[in-house]
Amino acid sequence: MEAVTPEFIRRKVEEKKNSIIKLARELIRIPSITGEEGEAQSFVRDKLKEIGLKVESFEPDPRELSSHPSYFPTSSYTKYGYAGRPNVIGILREGTSEKKLILNGHIDVVPPGSLGGWRYDPWSGEVSGGRIYGRGAGDMKAGLSSIISAVELVRDLELPIDGTILVESTIEEEDGGVGGALATLLKGYRGDFSINPEPTNLDFWIASAGVLYFKIGVKGRPSHVMEPYRGVSAIDKLFLVYKALKMLDKERRKNIRFKYAERCDPNLKGYETFLNIGMISGGNWPSTVPDWAELHCRIGWPPGESVEDVEVQIKEKLSNLAESDDWFKDNPPEYEVTGWRAEPSMLNLKDLLLRELSNIASKVLGRSPRFCGGTAGLDTRFFINDFKIPSVCFGPVASNIHGFNESVEIDSILKVTEIISLFIYRFLKGS
Ligand SMILES: [Zn+2]
Repeated sequence: MEAVTPEFIRRKVEEKKNSIIKLARELIRIPSITGEEGEAQSFVRDKLKEIGLKVESFEPDPRELSSHPSYFPTSSYTKYGYAGRPNVIGILREGTSEKKLILNGHIDVVPPGSLGGWRYDPWSGEVSGGRIYGRGAGDMKAGLSSIISAVELVRDLELPIDGTILVESTIEEEDGGVGGALATLLKGYRGDFSINPEPTNLDFWIASAGVLYFKIGVKGRPSHVMEPYRGVSAIDKLFLVYKALKMLDKERRKNIRFKYAERCDPNLKGYETFLNIGMISGGNWPSTVPDWAELHCRIGWPPGESVEDVEVQIKEKLSNLAESDDWFKDNPPEYEVTGWRAEPSMLNLKDLLLRELSNIASKVLGRSPRFCGGTAGLDTRFFINDFKIPSVCFGPVASNIHGFNESVEIDSILKVTEIISLFIYRFLKGS
């Protein structure tokens, strides 16, 4: 066999280009909105078998999950349950070494939104101008194609490997990943290092944001508007909560900085933490003083504070309100967690395998990938926080993820495949 040089791998990936693109497009064409991952997972299962991996799959068991400190019931679990939504793991084991590499990606995608906003059908996987278009093209079916293709390449070339590779396609990342990445780890699929090819634009995402979803409900006293003095408007009261949350957000944003977020996107300065008031509703009739109103929020923040730290600040604002407002004294705002309740995480930047991956990437790309992150919640947090497995996101160049006309750059998919193939070879090199 020819010597396994970076040049050799680059050529082999280039020869495989059409099949890498084809796989990404096939994955995009199967809609797999969070909660409805089943069909796409069957496809992945068949594909992993076809390339000669041992394949295991399982549906998450909420009873096993619920005792874990990082567990929270996701909204897709509440809506769909976990039946028919398996996690799929392809296993390549050779030699006797205990070394184990995890390649993990999520199969679920967010809804496409109104179809009129799309240039091409979001489930078409249309190729145009060196890019693949579609919902999930970047986030993260191209990445899944990269990791599957990298392992297929290792098989095709019969590269000598001593150790184990796990190729994982997991569910519900968009909804918190509890039944996906966390479930696989709890099930025992663990390793020395994990790479997660989210659309990182060929940089490394080394930090995951803390994320908390919550709602605040406020009671009023209903009355007919012909006697408005009898009522107390829950909507008016909710605006006091709104103002208090805006104040909290302003204070936090003034004080919290995270260089890894700002370094990669200078526009994030001042937005490293952010409290989004995403939904608001209340009342039930134009001529009734409203008896109920609520708002739903997502607060995100970089490593440095725990979920509890942040919750204390929110609750303090609410209790201040209760002290300054007579109605709130007897009817305090009600706080409730409504989904994500995730601690932030941060990869140790001195990790030797991260250094190795970074060296390979620098040589292939001709530049050093930047260390970024801290404003999105990622599955890597389960690996790092809960199982002490160093875990990094590294994936292709994408545009408009979660938006209209999401797309991914084909050249970058090839680069990711090349870099991950080389990393597999260096880390698990046998004789
Ligand atoms: Zn993603």
